[in-house]
Amino acid sequence: MFAGIFPQMKVIDHINNAKGNTLVSFEVLPPLKGKGINALYNHLDPLMEFKPAFINVTYHRSEHVFKKKADGSFEKIVVRKRPGTESICAAIMNKYNVDTVPHLICGGFGVNETEDALINLHYLGIDNVLVLRGDAAKNETSFEPEPGGHRYAIDLLKQVVNLNSGIYLEEGLKDTSRTKFCIGVAGYPEKHFEAPNLDTDLEHLKRKVDAGADYIITQMFFDNEKYHAFVKACRDAGIHVPIIPGLKPIYNKKQLTVLPRTFHVDLPADLANAILKCKTDEEVEQVGAEWLLMQSKELKKSGVPVLHYYTLGKPHVVAKVVRSL
Ligand code: FAD
Repeated sequence: MFAGIFPQMKVIDHINNAKGNTLVSFEVLPPLKGKGINALYNHLDPLMEFKPAFINVTYHRSEHVFKKKADGSFEKIVVRKRPGTESICAAIMNKYNVDTVPHLICGGFGVNETEDALINLHYLGIDNVLVLRGDAAKNETSFEPEPGGHRYAIDLLKQVVNLNSGIYLEEGLKDTSRTKFCIGVAGYPEKHFEAPNLDTDLEHLKRKVDAGADYIITQMFFDNEKYHAFVKACRDAGIHVPIIPGLKPIYNKKQLTVLPRTFHVDLPADLANAILKCKTDEEVEQVGAEWLLMQSKELKKSGVPVLHYYTLGKPHVVAKVVRSL
């Protein structure tokens, strides 16, 4: 184990120990290949004064891109723009003594590679994972699992639950060590874009929880009523684990179209109109920060377990908001 790494606390224990107080957590991306780990530390430094309960690190699968050759033809190559999720989690733990949550996806992984990744995390003392399906690869129109890989997040989740019971892929292993992963899954207040309706999506979410998920983190939303309605629908459907709201700052006008297109979320008319009136990105950032603060205050007052911020590129905006809470 790295010097300085302490035994991890599970996300669910952080929540239970907080006894109803609202915690703060952040999501970061691995640095772009070639940027080095200091790029990430510079991003995290302004956020650490808020003593986050945990930090999530996203996972980015390889992409196929076409590179033009000298003769004018194209060569298909595989690039991985943001590698290193597992080791970045260990590096963050080592530097800041904070718990980390690596994201683990089905896309691009066979079950054996998944098991290896989980074993590596276990060796590193990382006891949290957020299990996800991942999106379609850039050259595919719909999600396709690797040959022999998992099709849905629940299948990956079951593999983690098996390891927690000491069941490895290789049959006949004796006296196996049990991992002790605390497992998070994704939920969508505005429905996952592929689900035919919210009820069906909730049925699949409930299956993930019944199979062993300890908590849910939501997709970003900009209207708190959607989060509250989602929590109620989950409770009515028999889902009783903590539901952590995911929050994102808006800081430029392009996001008015990029966010709905990419994440399938609505921006309320008041927010969209205020952004449209802005003349500069600085003004948009101010409007976005005020909106995020308003959302955060209301959610905190309503007693959410954690405010989870997608910090993507804008740690200072998130820092300003959390400082004002
Ligand atoms: P699933 O739970 O598998 O659901 C996918 C779809 O299939 C849904 O429509 C669901 O209703 C349906 N479904 C589920 N089970 C079944 C079944 N048995 N039969 C039929 N239909 C079913 N992506 C990344 O690549 N890297 C990341 O780091 C990352 N982090 C994320 C963090 C959060 C908090 C969130 C909300 C999303 C993140 N994503 C990430 C995006 C995520 O991978 C996509 O939203 C993906 O399209 C769905 O993932 P899921 O885990 O919700 O999938």
